Amino acid sequence: MLKDQDRIFTNLYGMHDRTLKGAKARGHWDGTAKILQNGRDWIIEQMKASGLRGRGGAGFPTGLKWSFMPKESDGRPAYLVVNADESEPGTCKDREIMRHDPHTLIEGCLIASFAMNAHACYIYIRGEYIREREALQAAIDEAYEAGLIGKNACKSGWDFDLYLHHGAGAYICGEETALLESLEGKKGMPRMKPPFPAMAGLYGCPSTVNNVESIAVVPTILRRGPEWFAGFGRPNNTGTKIFAISGHVNNPCVVEDSMSISFEELIDKHCGGIRGGWDNLKAVIPGGSSVPCVRGEKMKDAVMDFDALREVGSSLGTAAVIVMDKDTDIIKAIWRLSKFYKHESCGQCTPCREGTGWMMRVMDRLVRGEADVEEIDMLFDVTKQVEGHTICALGDAAAWPIQGLIRNFRDEIEDRIKAQKTGRVSAVAAE
Ligand code: SF4
Repeated sequence: MLKDQDRIFTNLYGMHDRTLKGAKARGHWDGTAKILQNGRDWIIEQMKASGLRGRGGAGFPTGLKWSFMPKESDGRPAYLVVNADESEPGTCKDREIMRHDPHTLIEGCLIASFAMNAHACYIYIRGEYIREREALQAAIDEAYEAGLIGKNACKSGWDFDLYLHHGAGAYICGEETALLESLEGKKGMPRMKPPFPAMAGLYGCPSTVNNVESIAVVPTILRRGPEWFAGFGRPNNTGTKIFAISGHVNNPCVVEDSMSISFEELIDKHCGGIRGGWDNLKAVIPGGSSVPCVRGEKMKDAVMDFDALREVGSSLGTAAVIVMDKDTDIIKAIWRLSKFYKHESCGQCTPCREGTGWMMRVMDRLVRGEADVEEIDMLFDVTKQVEGHTICALGDAAAWPIQGLIRNFRDEIEDRIKAQKTGRVSAVAAE
């Protein structure tokens, strides 16, 4: 288990002073100007050496992403955009950073922007996060007043402005190009890639979009050294990580621990075990609602990192762990996710617009068992036609939970169809 002195987020639960005074007492904003003096290339090299992979879900190496930004400006400004939209069901980690430990994010914004030659950074926060916005804005104001950001930030000679933009509350605005559209004042609809944001992003200028946690860990990595950060977890899956565990555990919580912690240790140490004991575990969605579920017995020995979870047919995603015990109607649970993705589709590409609704309607019948067994394969086929055939990843996000259900709980779907046909049990109504 991670030792207290190795925690990056020392106020995750809001037990201490979140103001600038408290943040400084916990070591934030310590020697920031000195870090900047080392220069852009040094910062990017350190980030590469730390092995940090993006914490927003895709797990792309952060240092490498920063290195895609143009070294010299062609006259256009560059921007850092922080994705604080956090709308993936089950995911509630970034909000704890923003409302309880906002200064580590703000300091990270300054350093990361400097590394990418950006004098301005936008944080796009989801519409529902009202208190988080207030806490973050208060911290930004404090940082301006103290001269940590603004003109000659931290007396480093670098001018830096930080803007907090409040979204209107749409899941799709968490997709990086939809976020950029929304930030520009347009409808939040994903853009075709290429061009990638590093070439033409916000207002057509070079931009990098990073998740809140990815940016908030930067100052501590640079202060303590990339080797320290890379000392946690396994090769290619390094660092500390915030996990958000919800569902049928005795003590649902948000906790920072080492990457590659085993699922069993995570649940037993931090969540007081599975409700009703380990034999009562049915399924786990290990990385936020868009990743496939995994059967409980397979999950018990699983390791919580990017590569290991791929091996069990799922993904670390946002590390939002949704635990379901044997009381769960897993078909209905996945149907609910289908309904969510159908609702959140922006509608600009046909496989997603039509497919999400089609899949939800079939799921609706599967919940009640009012379908033919052959339709299970047909549904699987349709998920494959949606997956990878859309502009953005929402199509995949709608397809994967259903694929996980069919791969892992096909017997349960078939049983329900048979039971409905023979009148053995009363059907479960989808609401
Ligand atoms: Fe919109 Fe869905 Fe296409 Fe994404 S995949 S652009 S949400 S229609």
